[in-house]
Amino acid sequence: MNEDFRPPLSDWPELSAEPFRFRCHAGVSCFLSCCRQVELRLFPYDVLRLKNRLALSSAHFLEQHTRLGAGTHPFFPAVYLNMRADGGHLCPFLAEHGCSVYKDRPSACRTYPLERAVEKTANGTLRSRWFMTGHSYCKGHDEPQTCTVKQWEREQQLIEFNLFNDRWAEVDAFFAANPWQGEGHGGPLQQLAFMICYNLDTFRDHVRQHNLLAGFRLDRDRRKRIEQDDGELLKFGFDWLLHVLGSRRTLLPR
Ligand code: SF4
Ligand code: SF4
Repeated sequence: MNEDFRPPLSDWPELSAEPFRFRCHAGVSCFLSCCRQVELRLFPYDVLRLKNRLALSSAHFLEQHTRLGAGTHPFFPAVYLNMRADGGHLCPFLAEHGCSVYKDRPSACRTYPLERAVEKTANGTLRSRWFMTGHSYCKGHDEPQTCTVKQWEREQQLIEFNLFNDRWAEVDAFFAANPWQGEGHGGPLQQLAFMICYNLDTFRDHVRQHNLLAGFRLDRDRRKRIEQDDGELLKFGFDWLLHVLGSRRTLLPR
């Protein structure tokens, strides 16, 4: 049986390998409409990229730019970007000529107008499914140019984001089984998990203070990368959560 990592997207038609018709550019009449009135969910790697882009600590970024909301299941919250409060409900990163964080824009902005879902197949591999949204305000669908999903992934530099998002989806699917040992919402384990997934600079301090890396067999290169690179730290955090809370062999204890 397949395991869906994300909710069914049956509202939108599924894309095949065939090209779809779409193009977004500064000349469309709707330019930047999709950066207004949005409900923008941030995945852990999105937070990592944005806080580094803005040169903020993860704690400061979360406090200044985000709020908690409903996740894909009742056992772990999702993080949403706060829109501007001063009229129009605009994205705070929308500047006069476009997105001010374009190179580090979140997954949802890169993926739109597509939606992506991930399934784990019976043999344990992941399968992506892509869907085409159809918001009437988005005029990119009327443009004559075509593109395939593979081209879209490359052009939007989605591949790296989705590598992280797939790992996050696996962790979130694990959280959906309520691994909090009966401590309820916001208990210590859930707060620890939240820190690991979203508050990466605080997690880095936690790793140092508790000498967490010393407890696992990690080759010298990986250990160094974890100490120096936020992405590697996030991957280690995901492995650590699955190992400690789920008894999975994602890490080898010494
Ligand atoms: S609404 Fe669609 S076409 Fe218009 S700017 Fe956004 S993605 Fe591009
Ligand atoms: S992050 Fe950039 S692309 Fe995404 S909604 Fe904000 S301004 Fe638009």
